[in-house]
Amino acid sequence: MTCPKCKSTNTQVIDSRDVDSRTIRRRRECESCQFRFTTYEKIEHVRLSVTKRDGRVEPFDRDKIYKGMETAASGRIGPELLSEIVDDIEQKVIESAEPAISTKKIGNLVINRLRKLDEISYLRFVSVYKNFEQIESFQEELTKLKSN
Ligand SMILES: [Zn+2]
Repeated sequence: MTCPKCKSTNTQVIDSRDVDSRTIRRRRECESCQFRFTTYEKIEHVRLSVTKRDGRVEPFDRDKIYKGMETAASGRIGPELLSEIVDDIEQKVIESAEPAISTKKIGNLVINRLRKLDEISYLRFVSVYKNFEQIESFQEELTKLKSN
């Protein structure tokens, strides 16, 4: 790491701490000019795949999970917590070490989290949405409800 002040490459890490499960914050010091600066290290997104019920394999889509939960948890669970849940689910998918985890399993992971967190969001989620592939149709249903 190059010192942003004097451009020396003689810098050292003096402190490291986790910001979240995917990010590390490092405090660094330049040994030439003693300038202190901070860097963040983030895990690169791993390419993950999911298997749909009809056997098709698609890329793992964080946004899809997030949006499905956001619709169900509208006004009840904040965006930061929803992002944390998506992080956890992604982590579980990585840990499962399956070449392509089934959408049903992902749906169950979402359901388990929502059930522990907020009953209303959980009920909204499962009442219309029964598996991961139905998130889009769930959103359509909700839009219909709102416009009625
Ligand atoms: Zn320096």
